[in-house]
Amino acid sequence: MYENYKLESYCDICEAYVKENTKHCKHCNRCCQDFDHHCKWVNNCIGDLNYKIFMMMVTSTMLQFIYTLDCLYQNYNIIQYIE
Ligand SMILES: [Zn+2]
Ligand SMILES: [Zn+2]
Repeated sequence: MYENYKLESYCDICEAYVKENTKHCKHCNRCCQDFDHHCKWVNNCIGDLNYKIFMMMVTSTMLQFIYTLDCLYQNYNIIQYIE
């Protein structure tokens, strides 16, 4: 299982050997494995480890947004009906 851990990259800032695909995030000031991007909304790096959590968060936010829109739409209809 240690075959995946190829310590081929060196981070000058952390002064440590890191996996390939690891990039140093200037926002977090630490190395992030399989770095994708830094997300300011969750104030964290989105990489391999938390990518699934990130997708879940995005999906739940989208669902909440649709639900809110639906509620607003229904309320709008009710208001129109009353008037
Ligand atoms: Zn680093
Ligand atoms: Zn980051």
